[in-house]
Amino acid sequence: MGIAHSVLEAVRTEMIRYPGSYPCKVGVRIGEMAAIDPDALRFCFEAMVQETDMALLELAIEVCPRRHRCLGCGHEFIVHDYDSSCQQCASLLTTCVSGDELEFAYLEVEEYGTSPVGAKST
Ligand SMILES: [Zn+2]
Repeated sequence: MGIAHSVLEAVRTEMIRYPGSYPCKVGVRIGEMAAIDPDALRFCFEAMVQETDMALLELAIEVCPRRHRCLGCGHEFIVHDYDSSCQQCASLLTTCVSGDELEFAYLEVEEYGTSPVGAKST
């Protein structure tokens, strides 16, 4: 619930910059190690925006795979099956560069009055 709330807060903050517009789509990026269930997040989010001025806001979730970088050769790769050894030189000295993020990726806004009449479902 806390995450859905912070996403909404970020949207509200961002919308201050767009007077006369409404948010139609918000994108968030979740690392696969962040231990966040995208379905649960979506469910919470939809429950929160319901009956508010953001009821039409769509949540787009992008799940980012875990990535490591080799300290030996600099190769960056996606970790599969928890095998974090370098896929280029087989070194075990690799460091995690992404995969535990939770970030606000983008926000799509629409100006009031520009969307075609009849396009939205009631
Ligand atoms: Zn390597």
